[in-house]
Amino acid sequence: MDVRQSSLFRQRAFIDGFWIDADAGAVFAVHNPATGEYLGSVPDMGAAETRRAIEAARRALPGWRSKTAKERAQIMRRWYELILAEQETLARIITAEQGKPLVEARGEIFYGASFIDWFAEEGRRVHGDVLPLTNGDRRQLVFKQPIGVTAAITPWNFPSAMFARKVGAALGAGCVMVLKPAEQTPFSALALVDLAQRAGIPDGVINVVTALDPAPVGLELTQNPVVRKLSFTGSTEVGKILLRQAAGNVQKCSMELGGNAPLIVFEDADLDLAVKGALATKYRNCGQTCVSANRMIVQESIAERFAQRLAEAASGLKVGNGLEEGAVVGPLIEEAAVEKCERHVADAVNRGARLLTGGGRHTLGGTFFQPTVLAGVKEDALIFQEETFGPVAPVISFKDEADAVRLANSTPFGLAAYFFSRDIPRVFRVAEALEFGMVGVNETLISSEVAPFGGVKHSGLGREGSRYGIDDYLEIKYVCLGGM
Ligand code: ADP
Repeated sequence: MDVRQSSLFRQRAFIDGFWIDADAGAVFAVHNPATGEYLGSVPDMGAAETRRAIEAARRALPGWRSKTAKERAQIMRRWYELILAEQETLARIITAEQGKPLVEARGEIFYGASFIDWFAEEGRRVHGDVLPLTNGDRRQLVFKQPIGVTAAITPWNFPSAMFARKVGAALGAGCVMVLKPAEQTPFSALALVDLAQRAGIPDGVINVVTALDPAPVGLELTQNPVVRKLSFTGSTEVGKILLRQAAGNVQKCSMELGGNAPLIVFEDADLDLAVKGALATKYRNCGQTCVSANRMIVQESIAERFAQRLAEAASGLKVGNGLEEGAVVGPLIEEAAVEKCERHVADAVNRGARLLTGGGRHTLGGTFFQPTVLAGVKEDALIFQEETFGPVAPVISFKDEADAVRLANSTPFGLAAYFFSRDIPRVFRVAEALEFGMVGVNETLISSEVAPFGGVKHSGLGREGSRYGIDDYLEIKYVCLGGM
């Protein structure tokens, strides 16, 4: 099946219910990272088209906001069902533009769709408050109202799920949205919005602007006074730029930024479980997730055994085009990502680390990289300081619990952390001491629509998913009735 033949493979942007071109007719090309093949092209838009998308959203807001939550939920539920019905085509679009193995892409569609379903329902549970009396002649109430016109900028690593997680929350709360997908992966977002239209989501409620240069679109989305909220997932560097821009507009921001996740293995852990968990978090999506374990921090007495076991398992992972049967590690998104992996490996080895498996480009060529394990990594290595975003697992050893927690927390980032232990008091102590927004204990696949996703420190602001995620799209209004 060639996804380019599918009616869901849209090569135009979507504004106010119409599939449109850029004003000047300019387009940019998108390539398949596994083959380097030309996949298709989309409009190269800028500030003017973004302004029009924002105006379309502003016009659509009163109609969407004034529907009952149940009415919104019924439309969103239809959208959710259409997504599931088209799961295979949507998954193939992800694999074609992003490279992840098809089984993972199918999982991403299912995961993303779960947010549409979840927030359709959460929208029905937005309750206000009646406050206690402070004075007999007045009554005090709290309303919760949709923020209004919102914007989102999404990354290439989960091009479908990040769209769904943001749009789902916005629409469930009664907000409307203008979204810019990553330039590497616009087709997943366009396919989802096609299905949104088929489901009956009114024109202008979701608008997708595509651009090769994200900066002018980002500037308009942050500085246009109509846009009252921005939700961004991407690098900390770009997040900081957007926060600065949004400051001028006092725009509410949710930021899901970089991580540098530790995975601690204590000597009391179930080693089989720890190796399995490390393998799952490190090599999924070729290590390109913001919650991938970046640092394996293992107690001295078992560090060598753990590293050997992990290397053995990693060397057995099949690398290949995501469409190939059995391929579990796809290509990296682009050449710069390969170079970062090479730099991290070389730096660690220069500082005394030992390469147990992998270490460089895969014989498949292109942006394929070998699943890699390094033992004896030092704290000052680049790979310990920075997010690698690739299939490289560095193992560093620690002496005692305090040392492990210190190493884990010695980063400006605080998204996800994992640890393996069977000692119950230790599980509580360490879970409390880790400065991260999400902690997996004896488990590394922890994301779902019911759980709050987000980070602390330089990893971000706000939470997505869960019953907390809808709050990011709601304003609180205090109403005081006097003269009672
Ligand atoms: P990554 O390193 O994962 O590509 P980025 O933060 O560069 O992360 O990209 C995440 C999203 O942010 C993408 O949609 C990208 O187009 C967008 N982006 C990058 N730079 C800017 C910018 N200056 N303004 C607005 N959006 C940007």
